[in-house]
Amino acid sequence: MPKYSAPKILTAIAVGAILSLGTLPGAAVAAGQPASVQSATSVPAASMLAPASASSFSVAAARGIDRNPNHLDVFVNKSYPLKPTKYAPKTKTVSGTGISLRPEAANAYNKMVKAAKKSGIRVKLISGYRSYNRQAQLFNQYTRLYGKKYAERISAKPGTSEHQTGLAADVGNYNGACALQSCFESTPVGKWMKKNAHKYGFILRYPKGQESVTGYAYEPWHFRYVGTSLAKSYKNSGAKTFEHYHGVASTKKSSPKSVKGTAKTTANLNMRSGAGTSNRVLLTIPRGKNVKLTGSKKSGWYQVTYSSKTGWVSGTYLSNVSMPKSDTKKKDTKKKETKKSSPKTSGSSKKTTANLNMRSGAGTGNRVILTIPKGKTVKTTGKAKSGWLRVTYKSKTGWASGTYLR
Ligand SMILES: [Zn+2]
Repeated sequence: MPKYSAPKILTAIAVGAILSLGTLPGAAVAAGQPASVQSATSVPAASMLAPASASSFSVAAARGIDRNPNHLDVFVNKSYPLKPTKYAPKTKTVSGTGISLRPEAANAYNKMVKAAKKSGIRVKLISGYRSYNRQAQLFNQYTRLYGKKYAERISAKPGTSEHQTGLAADVGNYNGACALQSCFESTPVGKWMKKNAHKYGFILRYPKGQESVTGYAYEPWHFRYVGTSLAKSYKNSGAKTFEHYHGVASTKKSSPKSVKGTAKTTANLNMRSGAGTSNRVLLTIPRGKNVKLTGSKKSGWYQVTYSSKTGWVSGTYLSNVSMPKSDTKKKDTKKKETKKSSPKTSGSSKKTTANLNMRSGAGTGNRVILTIPKGKTVKTTGKAKSGWLRVTYKSKTGWASGTYLR
């Protein structure tokens, strides 16, 4: 399959199709918007938050794979379709474009464009929110033209597109140079975006050479809004893709899921972002809970779903393991993971003197795990790093600035 054999035709169609978007009936407006769910992510007033910037709260509190489409960090790809499939967000037209985005993304986009303009770079919005029905039209159109296989590489099946979340923006140069083509990467806007988008909460979602992981050919124009905190954290992590960042980069798991097995935790068990103790703790699963197995296993670790989060746990602390597929391997006797979250450590208790962000690392560059309200008691684990303390609160463990702990 010649990779870019038909870019011209393709681009013409894509641009044509996309440009007509603005005139389409807005499916977003029609759908009921669960505004109450939304507010769950946006926590208290920014003014209350001493050590954190307001933007830190634009990401959902808990880590791991978030599949709630109302959350800015919702994870969507071919293996993780939107739930519900026909989800429609509340959107807002980006002024002067006729293209809509989720309000948070639209505001961030405007900010970004202004900043680019100051550096003499003129960013053009090519595509934003696409409804389920619009995506279905596009996908069918591509399928008719190029066949299903190729259509899937360059387009998303309805219900699996980030554009349906209202959080994805395809951008281009004002003069149209290399619009929706890989050569966009070396144009002024392409270069500027690659370097600066994360500062405004956007990440490059389909990087070069990662098609087997993301499921999409390189798209230097497709940026996904995840909020500034997560975008910076993602950038700093050095992860190759958002899939890698979430510990779901294995290429074989993209096959549709069959019947899943289950297992039981035999201890308070850390769910981590990857297979191994060096990965981030997403949450601690209490002992005796049932977890869902996704079917992925790696050197003694299992990928599980619990409390609507997906991550990895050590198989040492699982019983009644029944893999969903034909995995008949016995649990291997791996070295035990020392659970860092168990409360038997020699730490003490401290009280928060302000609404305080718990972060994934010692420093404001790390992701916000949750916000601990002022006046709450947290457990310290005894670990400290340059003024930051490792603390446990509400069964989450992370780092908090010692300035606001007494
Ligand atoms: Zn796109």
